[in-house]
Amino acid sequence: MSARPAVQALPAYRPGRNPADLAREIGVDRAIKLASNEVAFPPLPAVVQALAAAAGETNRYPDNGAVVLTRALADRYDVDPAQVVTGCGAVTICQELAQAFNDPGTSIAFAWRSFEMYPLLARVAGARAVQVPLTPGRPGGPADTHDLEAMAAAIDDTTRLVFVCNPNNPTGTAVRRAGLEKFLDAVPEQTLVVLDEAYREFVTDPDVPDGIELMRGRPNVAVLRTFSKAWGLAGIRVGYLVAEDPAVAEAVGKTHMPFSVSMLAQAAAVAALASEDEVRARCAAVVAERDRLTAALRERGMDVADSQANFVWLPVGEQTAALAAALEARAVITRPFAGEGIRVTVGTPEEDDVFLAALDDVRAAAPAS
Ligand SMILES: *Cc1c(COP(=O)(O)O)cnc(C)c1O
Repeated sequence: MSARPAVQALPAYRPGRNPADLAREIGVDRAIKLASNEVAFPPLPAVVQALAAAAGETNRYPDNGAVVLTRALADRYDVDPAQVVTGCGAVTICQELAQAFNDPGTSIAFAWRSFEMYPLLARVAGARAVQVPLTPGRPGGPADTHDLEAMAAAIDDTTRLVFVCNPNNPTGTAVRRAGLEKFLDAVPEQTLVVLDEAYREFVTDPDVPDGIELMRGRPNVAVLRTFSKAWGLAGIRVGYLVAEDPAVAEAVGKTHMPFSVSMLAQAAAVAALASEDEVRARCAAVVAERDRLTAALRERGMDVADSQANFVWLPVGEQTAALAAALEARAVITRPFAGEGIRVTVGTPEEDDVFLAALDDVRAAAPAS
């Protein structure tokens, strides 16, 4: 049996290393995972309670419209419920957007390197992926960041969707208000700009705009967010899109895989939203630890740019694969992008100390950079 050529050409799924398996393999008590940008905190107490309560109802289908969660999000962001649509993780909404807006032969534009899902979902949708290189950073200066002028220039009349990942995964860099406004002004009205703000809750630079504020009055802008990162629900799978034009939310809703936001996911997300103060305190702790980790890496002479997310980017180029493997041999799992760099999730202070000690050990064994 042969799948569609576009699907045959996709890379096979490679699962990330599991810390328990790695620990067993190398004969240590514990390995740490700083690879997927989850927060290290356990689920919020209110979430655990809500999940336990919802468990008793799971013989029934969930509410396919996620009415309670959608209303809670609309209240939280001061928009109409018709502007909000939920999905089985933000990645599923990305896929639904492509299904809703891309006919074969159209295109999806995004920066590269950015979120790994974008090129895959373009191919599955039969759309052309227009990858616009990041503006290269410089040692000791800013890291690679979006080239919004080049992105605006790359949009043509086949471009139905543009993703702007802000802050960018995996570089952690963010585009500022003036640049983003200028970009949005330049995008033609038939092209939908999706601001992927999966890491919005970790942004501390006041000049990095809140996409939902920027969206107001711009019918071709929508904002993607998730409960997987700051809100601590990665294992539950729930994200959402807020669109200025309700027709965008409606189109995504029409391509929604029925019942894919489970009853447990809806209950957990509603409970998480009601615990926002706790979430904010956790984010502040992550940000403080991000700053400590960044400083510790710079003290070691590494070129680490300021991150606005819950991870840092080590642009180690050709050393990437070897460094990631050497860290793994020392029980630390990171996320390498071969030939480019390593993304390291901000963990607990204890986890980050284990990572720093492993890094020191690797560099003492093979002093390279
Ligand atoms: C993690 C992440 C998402 C969200 O993924 P979920 O499917 O909601 O878990 C979306 N965009 C980016 C850039 C991410 O890093």
